[in-house]
Amino acid sequence: MNKKVKIIPIFVPHAGCPNKCVFCNQRRITGRKDDKIDGVYVRNRVEKYIKTIDKDTYVEVAFFGGSFTAIDPQIQKDLLMAARLYKDSGIIKRIRCSTRPDAINEEILRLQKEYGMDIIELGIQSLDDDVLIKSNRGHNKSQSLSASRLIKEHGFILGHQIMPGLPGSTREKDLKTCLESIEMKPDMVRIYPTLVIKDTDLYDMYLEGSYKPLTLEEAIELSAYIYSLYRINDINVIRIGLQNTESVNENEDVIAGPFHPAFRQLVEDRIFLFALKSQLSKLNMEDILEGIVIHAPQELMSNLAGQKRNNVNKLKEIFSIKDISFKMKNNDIIDIYGKNKKLCSFSNKDVFQNYLTMQSEDLCI
Ligand code: SF4
Repeated sequence: MNKKVKIIPIFVPHAGCPNKCVFCNQRRITGRKDDKIDGVYVRNRVEKYIKTIDKDTYVEVAFFGGSFTAIDPQIQKDLLMAARLYKDSGIIKRIRCSTRPDAINEEILRLQKEYGMDIIELGIQSLDDDVLIKSNRGHNKSQSLSASRLIKEHGFILGHQIMPGLPGSTREKDLKTCLESIEMKPDMVRIYPTLVIKDTDLYDMYLEGSYKPLTLEEAIELSAYIYSLYRINDINVIRIGLQNTESVNENEDVIAGPFHPAFRQLVEDRIFLFALKSQLSKLNMEDILEGIVIHAPQELMSNLAGQKRNNVNKLKEIFSIKDISFKMKNNDIIDIYGKNKKLCSFSNKDVFQNYLTMQSEDLCI
């Protein structure tokens, strides 16, 4: 899909949630304080948004921030009918929601189908039962497996949300969660490394010392590995890290944990740095010392160069290269040129495979 996609978020903070997960405070994360959400609210939101959206944009309505499919069915119908009117008239193209694995069954899915739901994002968070208990999720791994299967069987697009760094988790458990998620073949994934948000049980656990969040560096490395695993399996990773909002930033509601306003870029930069390092280390040093030109598609340029040209500076230092410049090209293959000749080529997919191989060999920069 080449069109610009715009999601109209309808936040339903904690609606339908049967318990309070230790890390979650949706009112702080979404910035929404009032609870009154109904069909009129949905219509007002959509009307307001569509005035600001270009005509050829692919628009979706998304019910986020709660357990949508666990809300009272009458309220779900009211909300969905409001969104459905815009879908039937072609103004919006898809309706999506996020929900819990234990809020999925045949009857619930029939209602979603009847009222036009297209994408169901499951907060599986971890597939380790001990981690789920310590996070007070209130569901277990087998419910995540069965909900994912049912969602796909009923013809919905399946999303998974996973949270590395939850209480009781380890790198191995987080990687196992990722691999088991891949086996369920989600169509899209969000990776949210765990943050300590104000007014949550995790905040208390952090204060009393029973929870230690991932450092930013640990979260970048782990997310890069998980992201690469999804990418080599052709699974679309639609978000890495919580979105920076008025309240989700380090000085407001995020008390601790690996928050960075450009977290995804840090993760992607790291993966591309490894790819370039790996390619350059295979080359003859005399061919690169005077300078190299990297030919790549425009969308990869900033990842190759890194934030504030971090990757460029590191590579210059590691390999003593005088100059690294970039040239735009149209296909997906990345070429590295020396003074007068092409030195090597690699594909976007090679970049992710390379990261997994290098990390498995425990090479570090
Ligand atoms: S993580 Fe999801 S299920 Fe848990 S309290 Fe937050 S919105 Fe509800």
